[in-house]
Formats: sequence, C-alpha cells, structure tokens
Amino acid sequence: MSKETMEFQSETRKLLDIVIHSLYTERDIFLRELISNAADALEKMRHESILKKDIFDKDVELGINISVDEKAHTLTVVDTGLGMTRDELVANLGTIAHSGSKTFLNELSEHEQKDTSLIGQFGVGFYAAFMVAKLVRVQSRSYQMDDKGHEWVSDGTGSYTVEECPGLHRGTKLILELNDDSHDYAKEDTVKRIIKQYSSFVPFPIKLGGEKVNTVQALWAKGKNEIKDEEYNDFYKFVGAAYDEPLSRLHFSADVPLSIKALLFIPKTNMERMGLGRMDPGVSLYCQKILIDQHSKTILPEWLRFLKGVIDSEDIPLNISRQALQDNALVTKINKVVTTRFLKHLTALAKKDDDKYAEFWKTFGMFLKEGATSDFTHRDAIAKLLRFESSASESGKLISLAEYVERMPESQKDIYYINGPSREAVEAGPYLEAFKKQNFEIIYTLEPIDDFVFSHLGEFDGKKLVSADRADLDLPEDKEDKKEVEEAAEKLDKNIAASLTKWMKETLGDRVKDVAESKRLVDSPAIIVNPDGFMTSSMERIMRAQTPDGGLPMSAKNLEINTGHPLIKGLAELRVKNEAFAKTIVEQIHDNAMIQAGLMVEPRAMVERNYRILAEAVK
Ligand code: ADP
Ligand code: MG
Repeated sequence: MSKETMEFQSETRKLLDIVIHSLYTERDIFLRELISNAADALEKMRHESILKKDIFDKDVELGINISVDEKAHTLTVVDTGLGMTRDELVANLGTIAHSGSKTFLNELSEHEQKDTSLIGQFGVGFYAAFMVAKLVRVQSRSYQMDDKGHEWVSDGTGSYTVEECPGLHRGTKLILELNDDSHDYAKEDTVKRIIKQYSSFVPFPIKLGGEKVNTVQALWAKGKNEIKDEEYNDFYKFVGAAYDEPLSRLHFSADVPLSIKALLFIPKTNMERMGLGRMDPGVSLYCQKILIDQHSKTILPEWLRFLKGVIDSEDIPLNISRQALQDNALVTKINKVVTTRFLKHLTALAKKDDDKYAEFWKTFGMFLKEGATSDFTHRDAIAKLLRFESSASESGKLISLAEYVERMPESQKDIYYINGPSREAVEAGPYLEAFKKQNFEIIYTLEPIDDFVFSHLGEFDGKKLVSADRADLDLPEDKEDKKEVEEAAEKLDKNIAASLTKWMKETLGDRVKDVAESKRLVDSPAIIVNPDGFMTSSMERIMRAQTPDGGLPMSAKNLEINTGHPLIKGLAELRVKNEAFAKTIVEQIHDNAMIQAGLMVEPRAMVERNYRILAEAVK
C-alpha cells in the first residue's frame, strides 16, 4: 500500500491544538509518557513471548534506547516491544482512546476560561510529544510474523500519513524533530536528568548514548527476603537524597482492599528541628514503577512529611492530574491504609526496641503531636504512641499514657497533667501538692504544644485528660486524711475565711474572676486556676505570645488561697490593722501565683511593689 494521508479525529485535533499552542510549565513529562509507552509495549512483549511461538525478532533483548542529535535537533526513542501494525498505528495514534487525554479534555470543558496551562499537569500520553516536536515520526514493526513495518508521520496539525517502511526491527522507533523552543531536549544531560527523575525504576534497561541510565532497582517491588540491608540503605540514599542510613524502614505490600507496595524510611535527623523551615513531603507516588506524583502532598497526611520513600499502586491511572489526585477516593484509601500500617510499625518498634523508639520520639515526636491535633482518623492510634515525663518517671525517661493508666489507683478516675517549662519548674510549683498528697501520678507536659494535644484528645482509654490547673479539679478526698490535715494546719475560721476571700476579690477587681478557699493546697499560700474548662495556662501563654500587642484579654482566672498557710492567716490579721498595706500584699500574692502559673505579669509595677514590701520588712 502506498502513502496515505488521514485526518485526525476531531477530538484529537482539539487536543493537539491545545498541546501545540499553549505554554506549558512541565514539558519534561513528554519523555515520561514516551518511556512509559515503550515500557508498556515491552511488558506486553514479554507476556506474548510466553504465550506464542512465532515471534518476529524473537531473541532481541527487551529494552529502550534513547539517542540525541544536537545538530539535527532530534530525539529518538527506540523500544523492542511488541510494535504496531498499520491498523494499530491508525487506531492507537489517530484517535483518542486513552485515559489521560480524555480526562484532560473533560476538565478543560468544565473550566470556563479554558485554562490550557492545565496541560502541564496532565500526562496526555503520546500526544505530549507535540509539546516539544514540530514533526513526529513513528516507525513500527509488529512482533507478528506477517507484518511489514510502517511509518506514521505528523506535524500535529490536522492530519498524518502512513506508509509502508520495510527493513525495520521489531518494536517502535519514535523520531522527534524538536521545535525551536525545545532544542534543549537534544542534549544528553537534559534527557538524562529527566529519565532519572521520572523513569529511574522502569523495569527495562533504558540506554542513553549506549549507556544504561536507570541503574537503581525498584526495590519496593521485590520480596523482602531478596533484599539485603545494604541495598535498602542505598535505595534510601537515592530516594531520600540522604548521606547516612535510615533510623528505621517499613516495607510492605497489600492486595486488599487495594494493590499497594510501599517502602518507607524514617531518617535519622529532623530537618525542621534544625531550623531549616517546613519540610516538603518525602514520599512519592508511583504506578507500576513510573512516577506519578513526586514528593506527593496527598498520598500521606501532612504530619508524615518527615518520611522518605515510595508508594506504588497499580490501581491509580498513570495519567491522573495532580488536581484529580487531591480528591481521588483511591488516593484517600491508600493514604489511610499506609498511615495505619506505618502507625502499627511504630507501635511494634516501641514494643521491641525501647531505645530506638526513644530516639525516634526525641527526633520526630513533634510530628506525632501535630498528627494528634490535626488527624482525626488516626488520633487514637497516635495517642498510644505519645510519650511524656511524669512525676513517676525518672528525669529524662518517658512514659506512655497506657503505662500511666495501668498504674492508676482505683480511686483515681482521670488522667492528670500539668505544663511547665522544665521538670524542676513543675516540681517546685504549687500544682503538684494535691497530687503528691493523694499519691497520684501526674504527667508533665513540658512542650508548648502538649496542652493543645491533650485538649484535642479529650480522653484516653475512656479516661478524661485533665489539666491540674483547672479550677474544678475534683480529686477524690480521703475523709480521714482531710480531717487530719485540717487539724494539723489549723485553718482559718470559716467566717473569717469567707470574709477574707470576698475582700481579696474586691481588692483584685477584674484581675481575677473569683477568690476562693483552696481544697488542694498543702504548702503553698496561693494558686492560680482556670475556671474555663478547656483553656490551660500554658495554652493561654502561647496564644498571647502569638498576639504580642496585648490584643487578647486575659481569660478568666481564679485565685485559690490556702487558709492554713501562715502568710494567709497573717494577712487576715494585717487586714484589720493596716488595710492599705494588706492590699499591697494581696496584689503581690496574686502576681506571684501568676508567675508560678507561667503567666506574665507587668514587671515594673511588681518590682516597685516588692520594694515597698521589703522596706516595710526591714523597718
Ligand atoms: P495510553 O498509554 O494511556 O494508552 P498513549 O497516548 O500514551 O495512551 O498511547 C496510545 C496508544 O498507542 C497506546 O495505548 C498503545 O497502544 C500505542 N502505543 C504508543 N506508544 C507505543 C509503543 N512505543 N509501542 C507500541 N504501542 C504504542
Ligand atoms: Mg501512554
């Protein structure tokens, strides 16, 4: 048959027109598309050669050969796959049968303004060649014995030609005559970079100028016991752009509910903590070893951005756009399955290797805390992985909430915590006294974010998480013990105490919501507590720090006083003798309690008042 000129289908023409005439930001993907087509053809060839006897060029090695001609401005991609007959050339390259282009056209018709820049985010398959080429030649010879070989040629406008082309080897040769803006793609360095970025794991050798470019294996697709530690580490260095070894790795595959293969690494260092700003995600999404979304923002929750590695799923269409990934139900499912598996991995690590988990926690605990506050789906699993210091732990040693619950005496109903800048500061403050008396363990939340985490969690194992600076703290009381304490400390008479707290409230005015007699204090004269259930002093401190202009009014605070403390008893007497000075003392007690709560007071007025009190003391 002689040379025949044929028209593209109208849909194809529309698509080609857009491909040729718009400005693309990610033109590099054209090569990914061509290589993935070649890999598909090779895969099919491998399959056919198992089933069939009569195959043209049966012993030719399966592979992809790429060459460039910088002078002639051409790029050539050759594969030894199953090739195309004349009819297949017409059907496959002349009509729009494939997924990527269809989705792209649909998306375009939905966008009123016909935002063609969208194209960069789509794989439009074979047609992507026209983003960089002014003429595309496809020479193909099918594996079927009786095929003669044909050449398909088009400049991407309305039509293409097909004619017989004898003397071809099995497979397909694509010759791209690059357009003036695309001469860069005739440079070996450029082509090499793109192959490495997108096609490093293609399971057939890709040679460029005779040299194999894809030297790294897609380890995730191999069985675990076929892989040596050293290979894992080398792979980590490749995908994680790392120089050291990972702290831990997780390699698994699943078939139900989805086909997923994942290989994830926990690095040794936390770049965010080293002050390098917010990390980009480090896990990329592949479909059958071809990159779909590098450093994907959607395939894992944001709080897992410290992980490096690969997730591969055959169920995701190669040509999916990045926008479509965002609200793709499959992606959401993969995200959930992989995150759940990773949390299981951490749980197992914590059980098996205390020291390693402690190291992980020290480095990446902040991300789990972020997850606990932002990821509702996995909140309960994350809660079990959190670690804190507590009144029962040695300094620097950490406990889990589960351990805490295990140690709880029967009389204790809630889980208690208190925030402070350091263990020493917490233990010197007034908030621990009641817990020491009851012999209740209390968790020290030493990081600013901790109270937000606990307030988000609300409870653990059915037990409420309660901050020890809450006004309505309801510790079970030991009746006898209470009597003893009352007698020993000789508290103020009820009426005197009532009148004293009322007068103190008048003295402090708006600075407190209420002044009350404390049931919890043992050694300290006074304490600041929060009547507003969910806000702790630590949370308040952080929120105020973020609005430095004092925009936030202080939330309600109560001052509780210890009516068995000599200072408070003395105050009751001083009030009668020298009310003005007694008021000064009240203000100072309030400021001291605020400081112990970690809440700022105005230092100038405080210091000035303090000197007045000292002057009185030395008189
Ligand atoms: P898709 O790969 O999504 O099917 P493409 O536009 O990339 O869409 O390719 C269209 C079709 O052309 C392919 O499905 C395949 O049948 C055929 N094709 C493209 N490149 C090759 C090749 N190198 N060898 C054999 N067939 C090919
Ligand atoms: Mg394709």
